[in-house]
Amino acid sequence: MIAKSEKDKKELREAGKRLGRILKALTLAAVPGTSVSSLNELAERMIREGGDTPAFLHYTPRGAERPYPATLCIALNDVVVHGIPTENKTVLKDGDIIGLDTGLIHNGYIVDSGITVPVGRVDKEAQKLMQTTREALYVGIEAARVGGRVGDIGHAIQEYVKPHGYGIVRELGGHGVGRKVHEEPSIPNFGKKGKGPELLENMVIAIEPMLNEGERDVVFDDDGYTVRTADGLRSAHFEHTIIITKNGPEIITEV
Ligand code: MG
Ligand code: MG
Repeated sequence: MIAKSEKDKKELREAGKRLGRILKALTLAAVPGTSVSSLNELAERMIREGGDTPAFLHYTPRGAERPYPATLCIALNDVVVHGIPTENKTVLKDGDIIGLDTGLIHNGYIVDSGITVPVGRVDKEAQKLMQTTREALYVGIEAARVGGRVGDIGHAIQEYVKPHGYGIVRELGGHGVGRKVHEEPSIPNFGKKGKGPELLENMVIAIEPMLNEGERDVVFDDDGYTVRTADGLRSAHFEHTIIITKNGPEIITEV
């Protein structure tokens, strides 16, 4: 969406702050022995306690055959994104990495954010993968400037990731957000500078690089949602919702 008024921006910032707090709580809860379904329950409870509505629960993305059945998307180890926490009995174990991605609707305004966190002690390679993905997100955010193009964001991410040798997932990417979960424009995590739709003042977008330890190729599970690396190596994902202001990008889902 384009945040047309100060009220729009105020509501979005409040929504973002609430979501940031929830992701922080989820991060702290992601310890060995925790079930993924309990993380989903925590996310849903916190969203509802704030008087808000889970944005992903019952949402049907374009092309999906059924509505998404949970509040939280999880991504354990080789899962890139969109693992369903309510349809498996997985319990987190030491050394896992888990992506936590959720969204909420606050007074009609939607924000979307995600993080990948270590469970207990993880190996150096996992730490580097998560760190690089997080940095790639911030590099992409910095490239989101009024008058620029969508391709500037993907280009910046791609150039940043290149020396690390990670695969950048191409089948999924960022998107406009604010009134619906997914709005125009699509924000690929690769691209050419100066190409693609123009970035406008007060445009609200979610940027979300997904990096694989190995090749960029992914496969989709039969559940219609879970996306995994084709080579079985691990993947990480970080996401923020931002407002592109004339003073630069403003991250609204960070606390
Ligand atoms: Mg998300
Ligand atoms: Mg998103």
